[in-house]
Amino acid sequence: MKLTEKIAQSKSTLFSIEILPPLKGKSIQSIYDSIDPLMEFKPAFVDVTYHREEYVYKKREGGYLEKVSIRKRPGTVGICAAIMNKYNVDAVPHIICGGFTKEETENALIDLQFLGIDNVLALRGDSIKTEAAFVPEPGGHNYALDLVQQINDMNKGKYMDEEMKDAEPTNFCMGIAGYPEKHFEAPNMYSDLKYLKAKVDAGAEYIVTQMFFDNKKYFEFVKSCRDGGINVPIIPGLKMITQKRQLNALPKIFHIDMPIDLYKEIEKCKDDAQVKEVGINWAIQQSKELIKNNVPCMHFYTMGTSETTRRVASAVF
Ligand code: FAD
Repeated sequence: MKLTEKIAQSKSTLFSIEILPPLKGKSIQSIYDSIDPLMEFKPAFVDVTYHREEYVYKKREGGYLEKVSIRKRPGTVGICAAIMNKYNVDAVPHIICGGFTKEETENALIDLQFLGIDNVLALRGDSIKTEAAFVPEPGGHNYALDLVQQINDMNKGKYMDEEMKDAEPTNFCMGIAGYPEKHFEAPNMYSDLKYLKAKVDAGAEYIVTQMFFDNKKYFEFVKSCRDGGINVPIIPGLKMITQKRQLNALPKIFHIDMPIDLYKEIEKCKDDAQVKEVGINWAIQQSKELIKNNVPCMHFYTMGTSETTRRVASAVF
């Protein structure tokens, strides 16, 4: 079922989660173990992230180094199909531009349609760790906007081969990413919102936000979107802090701000067990305020563990 239909039909805030595929070589059981304890909260959907290749240097005989491309967390599509089969819940694969030609994207989307996957999150994707900036695949997309346009074309039965007649249209409900604290490459919020609106105008039907720890940032973002004519549901994404090192790591990786009050609370903690309690309580307060303000859905970045999300969900749903 399309997420936008679920949101429209629901009278209260929905609950959803995001999971990472397991590391290559690990079993899918680890995914089930992280979803099982959250099923009682009836997730409206389960997002599965996509992780592109990384380059590593392997030492070979004679001492020379070979540059090897590896994907540490493959399996996004397979996991989506397995989750839908096991739990009868909508799974949403993240589709990225990086590493794919347009034709490979088209073929991947055909697979998803055959699997009965109705929703996708269309993203540009992060740059490869060893590259300073995002480099599109030759014959691939530069921006998420181009990917949204491709999916929208397919939804109208327009495939890459212009000579293809009477092609069956796909029927994807497309989500996109939004950044309450601005995407780090955007020169300003005005420009970031301009491209966000372009994605909505091109067919994106809902937005999931980057994590944030200050609800004010989300409320301001929603207001700016609405003022700018972006009227699709904006789903807040929340993450729980569980380790002291995240005070510096999260702002560095995700280009977000750490509220001073949260920073001070965590600074006082003697160990990570205490940090986890602060992180959970902070997320509970955030969630309560967001739900009070009728957000369409609370989306939790579980990062492969269920305990913290479970504690927050128990307190607010
Ligand atoms: P875009 O919309 O392409 O925007 C990228 C930048 O370019 C922005 O600064 C924007 O303002 C600008 N811009 C956009 N369009 C244009 C244009 N036409 N011309 C000029 N400038 C433009 N990454 C992964 O690799 N895998 C995942 O599974 C994943 N899941 C995510 C889930 C969520 C909810 C979020 C918020 C992010 C996720 N990411 C993931 C990270 C995301 O891929 C990165 O943040 C990436 O750098 C940008 O992706 P985007 O789709 O927002 O890009």
